Amino acid sequence: GIPDEMAVPLPTTKSFPSVRYRNEETRKRVLITGGAGFVGSHLVDKLMLDGHEIIALDNYFTGRKKNIEHWIGHPNFEMVHHDVVNPYFVEVDQIYHLASPASPPHYMYNPVKTIKTNTLGTINMLGLAKRVKATVLLASTSEVYGDPEVHPQPETYWGHVNTIGPRACYDEGKRVAESLMVAYNKQENVKIRIARIFNTFGPRMHMNDGRVVSNFIIQALQDKPITIYGNGTQTRSFQYVTDLVDGLIALMNSNYSLPVNIGNPEEHTIGEFATIIRDLVPGSTSEIVNQESQQDDPQQRRPDIRRAAEQIQWRPQVLMKDGLLKTIEYFRAEIDRNKRGGKP
Ligand code: NAD
Ligand code: UDP
Repeated sequence: GIPDEMAVPLPTTKSFPSVRYRNEETRKRVLITGGAGFVGSHLVDKLMLDGHEIIALDNYFTGRKKNIEHWIGHPNFEMVHHDVVNPYFVEVDQIYHLASPASPPHYMYNPVKTIKTNTLGTINMLGLAKRVKATVLLASTSEVYGDPEVHPQPETYWGHVNTIGPRACYDEGKRVAESLMVAYNKQENVKIRIARIFNTFGPRMHMNDGRVVSNFIIQALQDKPITIYGNGTQTRSFQYVTDLVDGLIALMNSNYSLPVNIGNPEEHTIGEFATIIRDLVPGSTSEIVNQESQQDDPQQRRPDIRRAAEQIQWRPQVLMKDGLLKTIEYFRAEIDRNKRGGKP
């Protein structure tokens, strides 16, 4: 038998957040690839609470079980450890295809794998959608616009991407993923949705994500220098994760097949953003420093969201400051938890 000191007591009951009751007619079976990631796990929460059956698929490259562990054991929820580069078969009504590293250090870590995930992974999900007649939504990105010469960016802009630069594995991967979606729609009648997601932040971003929001918040909380890459005049527009999730669900349930920008048009320079975040962390003594600029870093980015308003009646609701305060609280708790060796 197992020695007493090694035996871990198994919980006999687990309490779940209460979910809406739905009958067979309105309850959907939904596959979410990348479901253990930052955005995916928030999408899992919203669709679970709304009473749907969810299969979250993830290879745990950047995602974590912790993000969805509160649903493990729930009869409507299933977690599948799988890599989308390999085919996967399941009966579902809808597929939210989010599996892909998203932060620059993560997608540059293994560029070949990033391209495989976005091409082969998307083909596999489209093949599945074709077979089971599911609707598939692609989490595309504002990076398809590259370093844009048109500002703000409407969906009709074709973009300005360097095919051989360090970001190409991600940008071109997503561009071909969009082309695959359209080809399967035209040729095989697969029902498609394409969300061009702009910079998004919120709780459950990975601590080592490397994106600007998590970096600046963690630096401000730890009184370390806030690192601006380049002179800080480049701009971004940030949306809070719950707004994005609402937009993805609205798009999925519309009947609109062309790409739709999902983002918050409130634009700031990265220099301003450093000050905004430091000011929201009371007592932070972080200095703001400039580091070397990053190759091919887009110099300006702001979504034109008129199409989302017209076609799916969506617009962001959360003020950047409110979202930032929630995210700061999340990272404060994560840093404390890490200090205790990961214990809750
Ligand atoms: P994330 O890294 O937290 O989540 C991505 C998830 O996909 C992770 O759980 C990861 O483990 C999983 N994954 C990666 N490769 C996989 C593979 N081969 N097989 C199975 N699972 C795999 O990132 P996120 O911010 O939640 O991004 C989700 C999606 O949204 C991505 O497709 C990303 O390109 C897109 N997007 C995000 C943003 C943003 O600002 N967060 C902006 C534009 C687009
Ligand atoms: N950035 C920065 N300091 C950091 C991380 C990022 O100045 O510690 C800058 C980065 O160069 C870019 C912007 O912030 O101009 C947004 O970067 P992020 O990686 O969050 O997303 P991107 O929009 O570039 O994919």
